[in-house]
Amino acid sequence: MTLTNWAGNVVFTPERYERATKVEQVQDLVAAARGVRVLGSGHSFSPVAATDGLLLSLEDLPLSVDVDTAAATARVTASARFAHVMPALHAAGLALHNTGSLPHISVAGASATGTHGSGTGNQCLAAGVVGIELIGPDGELRTLAAGDAGFDGSVVAMGLAGVVTALTLKARPTFEVRQFVYDDLPLAALIADFEEIMGSAYSVSAFTRWQGPVMDLLWRKQLADDPEPPAGYFGARRSDGPRHPIVGMPTENATQQLGVPGPWHERLPHFRFEFTPSRGDELQTEYLLPIEQAGAALAAVDAVHEQFAPALQIAEIRTIAGDDLWLSPCYGRTTVALHFTWVDDLTKVTPALAALEGALEGFDARPHWGKVFGIPRDVVRSRYPRLGDFEKLVRQVDPEGKFANAFTRSYLDLP
Ligand SMILES: Cc1cc2nc3c(=O)[nH]c(=O)nc-3n(C[C@H](O)[C@H](O)[C@H](O)COP(=O)(O)OP(=O)(O)OC[C@H]3O[C@@H](n4cnc5c(N)ncnc54)[C@H](O)[C@@H]3O)c2cc1C
Repeated sequence: MTLTNWAGNVVFTPERYERATKVEQVQDLVAAARGVRVLGSGHSFSPVAATDGLLLSLEDLPLSVDVDTAAATARVTASARFAHVMPALHAAGLALHNTGSLPHISVAGASATGTHGSGTGNQCLAAGVVGIELIGPDGELRTLAAGDAGFDGSVVAMGLAGVVTALTLKARPTFEVRQFVYDDLPLAALIADFEEIMGSAYSVSAFTRWQGPVMDLLWRKQLADDPEPPAGYFGARRSDGPRHPIVGMPTENATQQLGVPGPWHERLPHFRFEFTPSRGDELQTEYLLPIEQAGAALAAVDAVHEQFAPALQIAEIRTIAGDDLWLSPCYGRTTVALHFTWVDDLTKVTPALAALEGALEGFDARPHWGKVFGIPRDVVRSRYPRLGDFEKLVRQVDPEGKFANAFTRSYLDLP
């Protein structure tokens, strides 16, 4: 059996692959291993989960989502995907503050890479973690809570702080959302009025194939009770039917639009759990930069669009609130995220990345750890201000470098 990531661009060739069914078994496996990485749901495009040692799946650990209604938290085991957690929270009258574009990913894997949704007021998903249960290199299980020393370095940690067996997530009261999609927003309007447009609803995304002066779609997810939005908006028109983020893909794969109210977990993701999210034959890249730079960065990207558009299926622009998590791409700043879904062909994607990274050079862009990028080691290092603290933490908890792999070593100084 060939083991690959979801996209198929990373082939895992570990010395050993194990699917653990009990936490005690994970402890024994970790203690005995030379090198260990956990594979979540495998939705990263970078080789962040790869190892030549033990590759461990925790998908067969008993699945539990323990909701504490009084504390407004949920403790979820490492086998949980958002699709398991979200309905349980909703049934208890609670909600997460946000979701990524798809419910298929594991909560632990999404937290480890700083996965995010959109909304200028919404932090990345890992910022909702208030407790973390981790197995260290000696097999010992420890628990960290928000506020503990090292906590802010242990959540977005790409697996380097230990094997996460469970996470506690904070929740808010459940809420309803309505999605309204607009066609043909002029790029010039987005550049000129970026923060107003992107801040105009709870979660806003702009999609474009970068083939002309308009964005294909402006996707607004608003609180259900907020007023009906206008038919026209900054030169865009409300769509006359449902849309899929990738033009030409079946719209039934996307969550319900046209202003129909529904619970947060059936509206905040773009893709429904029952269907393949996005397209499947694709690679993805994402750069995260300060929101103040958004207009200038979009103009700089637009200036080179002919160099990358042939490799592009769709680009998505989102905003995210800043956080305190040391390795989070949104650390310390309100962020604009420029995302690119590419064709599944590195010979086309590599020059596209070079053009984009050249255009974004002056914008302090941080790469998404779970997606493909070409930014060199020294530049990546200079863009994460708490990298030194993170490396110190990893040296303390894992002095022999049992949890490091080639990908993490290529950006971080690790034992
Ligand atoms: C179609 C598609 C849509 C996407 N949409 C978004 C989006 O909207 N926003 C966004 O930010 N990203 C998005 N991504 C990227 C995705 O969210 C991240 O790559 C995320 O890490 C995937 O989680 P996973 O469980 O698949 O992690 P994996 O890829 O399996 O692993 C990622 C990292 O987490 C570590 N890890 C996983 N579980 C554990 C554990 N229990 N203990 C310790 N370490 C662990 C792994 O070792 C690895 O380092 C998308 C990806 C796809 C394929």
